[in-house]
Amino acid sequence: MGHCLVPAAEAVLDKEFPVLNKGFVRMVDYLGGDDRVVQSARVSYGEGTKSYREDAGLIDYLLRNSHTSPFEQVVFTFHIKLPIFVARQWIRHRTARLNEISGRYSVMKDDFYVPAAEDIALQSTDNKQGRSAEALEPAQAEKVRAAFAADQKAAYAAYSSLVEEGIARELARINLPLSLYTEWYWQIDLHNLFHFLKLRLDAHAQKEIRLYAEVLFDLAKKVAPRCCESFERHILGGVSFSNEELTELRRRLDGSKEDSGGLSGKDLERFEEKLQSGRQM
Ligand SMILES: Cc1cc2nc3c(=O)[nH]c(=O)nc-3n(C[C@H](O)[C@H](O)[C@H](O)COP(=O)(O)OP(=O)(O)OC[C@H]3O[C@@H](n4cnc5c(N)ncnc54)[C@H](O)[C@@H]3O)c2cc1C
Repeated sequence: MGHCLVPAAEAVLDKEFPVLNKGFVRMVDYLGGDDRVVQSARVSYGEGTKSYREDAGLIDYLLRNSHTSPFEQVVFTFHIKLPIFVARQWIRHRTARLNEISGRYSVMKDDFYVPAAEDIALQSTDNKQGRSAEALEPAQAEKVRAAFAADQKAAYAAYSSLVEEGIARELARINLPLSLYTEWYWQIDLHNLFHFLKLRLDAHAQKEIRLYAEVLFDLAKKVAPRCCESFERHILGGVSFSNEELTELRRRLDGSKEDSGGLSGKDLERFEEKLQSGRQM
């Protein structure tokens, strides 16, 4: 078996999938697929591909038991256009290779992120890192949008005039805001993409990066659908419990009415949250 050609992946190759107001994700290339994972896992036994059911079972087994290296045999290259504040969060994922547009070399484009009115909300009162689930009144949201747009326009005008005056581009850009779009090529293998997706598809991740993660996951499903299905079942849809939480869980499953006294306050809240969590399939 030579190069893995996956028809569903070929069909989306090079297509731009829009994200936010001006961003996109485009899959430039891929290497491998479900078959490559199976093939590389079986190398230890000198066996080739078996039936569809056995192959799917093997992938599920590998994922469930954290036998992660066969998933590293599948590699993706994406071209991504994203606001700098999203890029700041993204770049923390160190197990990828990337090349970004240079603001020292190129004049940055006049492309800024302005959130849609329904995405503008007050600071959450129960989550220090997030926004409230309720959107602002439309008129208030429009005011915020107009304020963002006016600041962006002024910042870009100042940048352009510095560039026109001949000031070095690497300096002219330094007052540009985090809402400016940047672009990069990002290459990552499936094992590390799963790690990225677990963190960035989570409800605790900021909505803007979550939207990119959704598109990446859809594209990964085209390349390696059976791997993605197992990931969705065991990782996205699963949760892990601490020792104390397991004790509480066993107590409830036994139908015990007695209070174990083990979990209380925030610990109990977190436990209840876990019971409700997981991705609905
Ligand atoms: C909801 C959310 C909120 C966050 N808030 C903050 C915040 O407030 N401030 C902040 O600074 N960051 C924040 N982060 C970023 C977070 O702390 C991680 O840096 C980021 O999620 C990348 O995770 P990672 O290191 O596991 O990923 P990767 O860099 O992709 O690494 C993958 C895995 O490889 C291993 N690895 C990689 N490099 C090393 C190394 N040098 N040494 C040892 N092991 C390594 C680790 O096992 C790691 O889990 C947040 C992330 C999320 C999802």
